[in-house]
Amino acid sequence: MKMQIGGKAVDACSGEFFDIINPATGELIDRVPKGTEDDAAIAVESASSAFNGWASTSPQQRARILYTASGIVRQRQDELAFLLTREQGKPLAESKNEIEGFAHVLEYYCGLASSFHGDFVPVHQNGYAFTVKKPLGVCTAIIPWNMPALIMAWKIGPALISGNTLVLKPASNTPLTNLTLASILSEAGLPPGVLNIVTGPGEVVGESLVKSPKVKKISFTGEARTGKRIAELAAGGMKRVTLELGGSDPMLVCDDADLEAAVAGALRGRFYNCGQACTAVKRLFVFESVAERFIKKLEAGVRNLRVGNGLHENVDMGPLNNRRQWEYIKELVADVEEKDEGRIITGGRVPEVSTCSKGYFFEPTLIVDVPRESRLLKEEVFGPVLPVGQVKDLDEAIEESNNTCYGLGASIWTKNLDKARAGCEQLNAGIVWLNQHLKVAPEVPFGGTKESGIGRENGPDALSEYLDLKTIMLKI
Ligand code: NAD
Repeated sequence: MKMQIGGKAVDACSGEFFDIINPATGELIDRVPKGTEDDAAIAVESASSAFNGWASTSPQQRARILYTASGIVRQRQDELAFLLTREQGKPLAESKNEIEGFAHVLEYYCGLASSFHGDFVPVHQNGYAFTVKKPLGVCTAIIPWNMPALIMAWKIGPALISGNTLVLKPASNTPLTNLTLASILSEAGLPPGVLNIVTGPGEVVGESLVKSPKVKKISFTGEARTGKRIAELAAGGMKRVTLELGGSDPMLVCDDADLEAAVAGALRGRFYNCGQACTAVKRLFVFESVAERFIKKLEAGVRNLRVGNGLHENVDMGPLNNRRQWEYIKELVADVEEKDEGRIITGGRVPEVSTCSKGYFFEPTLIVDVPRESRLLKEEVFGPVLPVGQVKDLDEAIEESNNTCYGLGASIWTKNLDKARAGCEQLNAGIVWLNQHLKVAPEVPFGGTKESGIGRENGPDALSEYLDLKTIMLKI
């Protein structure tokens, strides 16, 4: 596939390409242009030229185009899901879910088209004031490989409906679904240059976009380390940033929790998308009094998970998305064994399917008796490995949960109102779930505290991340 700049499918200035590999089989799926600094500059220029025209359309006109696009995406859901599974690895059912999520997010922002306007403010003894909201100009979106379609929607939805133009850089492992979705938006009537996609290395294309003087805002989703680099670069031009970074979400299972529901929540929370979700359950703390029963049930559930190629039937968990991630997970688990930092009760190995298919598979893994200083609890474990710790009461559970540099999500599982309230209030995270985990919706703000990021996506507040507020004062 080619990049999309100014409404055209183009190759990179360098004439070079890079390979897109199916993580379940190692097969070559496609090649995409290896974009350069020049390509980034051309895309910004294209977005800049399209800005005045797009900003002067009415939000309702913009909504009509986005709504048409979401209709086409729904019609082509199966084909898009197939492509997403081939480049990302997740089971087909999860890909369908994600494509449906893309359409849902666009439709949500279409519904907000008439909602963003300024206020009229009487100013005591000094006349009147009113405020107007204006799009910022050219924005940049830089996205990861774990949920490329959904995260694309989280960024283009609010940016485009509010009248901005955009250059999006997909992750290097998963650009194909993003490129196809962009061509659907063109087909739906999005004018040339309003959305441009440049593929290529983050350090080259991503950094050029962030540094470009014409880019007014950067919305980034990815690792905390990359987010810090982007924040540094953006500070030079005093640009707006939204940073959706990593997490190490805790899940607290209290003594009175519905254990069956908690087990189901932990299985989905940890192993959905092969553990590669920013708000996956990455640390689990269970009350000592129910720990044995809970861990037994959880172990049985983990053993039942079927690992395989996401395109095949009856598969619960696909491969990790890329070699780097696979090597990291293997090394992390080997480290636990070598340093005696925990007891693996199930999983912990590369399964046979990996050798047969050349895919990046790893068994769903449960580890208990993990010491506090272990890497498993300190780092963001982006893969199918779940450390389970025991706590004596809620105070200890909350203290352990908050003992991290991250603050993206957290969940508490209890039927007791006092415990529920304490958890919701004291867990230090951008989103706290009660008796569920992982659920997100375009209607609800999403984002992290601490090193999990700055700003919010989704919900009506996400629009203000893409709008400038201007105050006009009248002496009448
Ligand atoms: P990553 O930071 O390596 O890459 C993300 C994107 O940034 C890619 O497109 C990459 O090419 C680009 N990039 C890399 N270096 C860059 C640089 N110097 N300048 C500009 N761009 C650069 O992250 P990843 O491995 O693709 O994604 C996994 C991470 O994303 C995890 O930490 C996960 O928790 C996080 N994530 C967060 C959320 C959230 O909403 N908070 C959602 C999904 C994923």
